[in-house]
Amino acid sequence: MPDPIDDLLGNLKSSVSPMRATLQELHAKYKSVSDGTVADYIPELALAKPEWFGLSLVTVDGDAYDVGDHALPFSIQSVSKPFVFGQALDDHGRDAVLAKVGVEPTGEAFNAIVLDEESNRPFNPLVNAGAIATADLIHGKDFADRIKRLMTTFERYTGRSPHIDNAIFMSERTTGHRNRAIAHLMLNFGMVSDQIADSLELYFQQCSIMVTAHDLAVMGATLANAGVNPVTKERAIKQQHVKDVLSVMLTCGMYDYAGEWAYRVGLPAKSGVGGGICAVVPGVCGIGIFSPPLDPRGNSVRGLKVCEELSERFGLHAFELGFTGEKLADQFRLRKGR
Ligand code: GLU
Repeated sequence: MPDPIDDLLGNLKSSVSPMRATLQELHAKYKSVSDGTVADYIPELALAKPEWFGLSLVTVDGDAYDVGDHALPFSIQSVSKPFVFGQALDDHGRDAVLAKVGVEPTGEAFNAIVLDEESNRPFNPLVNAGAIATADLIHGKDFADRIKRLMTTFERYTGRSPHIDNAIFMSERTTGHRNRAIAHLMLNFGMVSDQIADSLELYFQQCSIMVTAHDLAVMGATLANAGVNPVTKERAIKQQHVKDVLSVMLTCGMYDYAGEWAYRVGLPAKSGVGGGICAVVPGVCGIGIFSPPLDPRGNSVRGLKVCEELSERFGLHAFELGFTGEKLADQFRLRKGR
């Protein structure tokens, strides 16, 4: 006669989906990694605990697999940049945006005070200079309307109303001298408008939006799903601009590690100094990771390891020949696919 408790435990165990079990395994494997340091150049960021670690994967069908501290809010920081770039593309079209911001990787630090010497453009929308120029492009009849439009953009991607952490925003704003210097250099070259003071505020606000690893996975899944949030079914960005955003994420998204990231992991992604990473497997899923300790380039140490292993194990690299999703087939049932 089978023991009912054993039976129940067996059932519960088998109800853990393979993908959740895989994420649990990666979480357990990498949680003891103690390399990296929590960012402290924005004082409020230094309050993060190094052991926080959350993983989330959301498919283009809207199925979610969440593990660890997946529901813990943290500031989105630079992970906001590609989504605002997408909004600028929707507002102005490709050519008008390209006239103000390039799409070249820099190999320089994210906050470098450097512009393309020939065109005076910032190199790309994912370094601070480019992100500030991109925030400057966000339409609106006045400042309040521009903030509202920016927040609505994030709401479409996450499916919930964004919350800005005031302490982080104030910390960001009072210590943001370098970003102001970059903005004024661009103003000098006529690359941004005379509403740049407001645009800097927009930029500081976008960096201070609180998200969770789960939110980042939904945002990534929205890009993976041709711009439609797979949970709310709402369109977040025009379909024709999704590939523009993803291309820049692939080549410029991981600070001055972007080249090696493309080589090793091969997925469009963006990281932020809050410890977040949002990675996209086009046509398949979004991956959200939160772990605050960063390597010297500003990428989450555990986040890089998880992405590298997921890419390797499931053949997710963009140039993996003959990707059929086969290796993922026993992880989750994918009704759509790339
Ligand atoms: N708010 C940060 C800054 O402007 C964003 C940095 C980041 O996440 O890379 O310095």
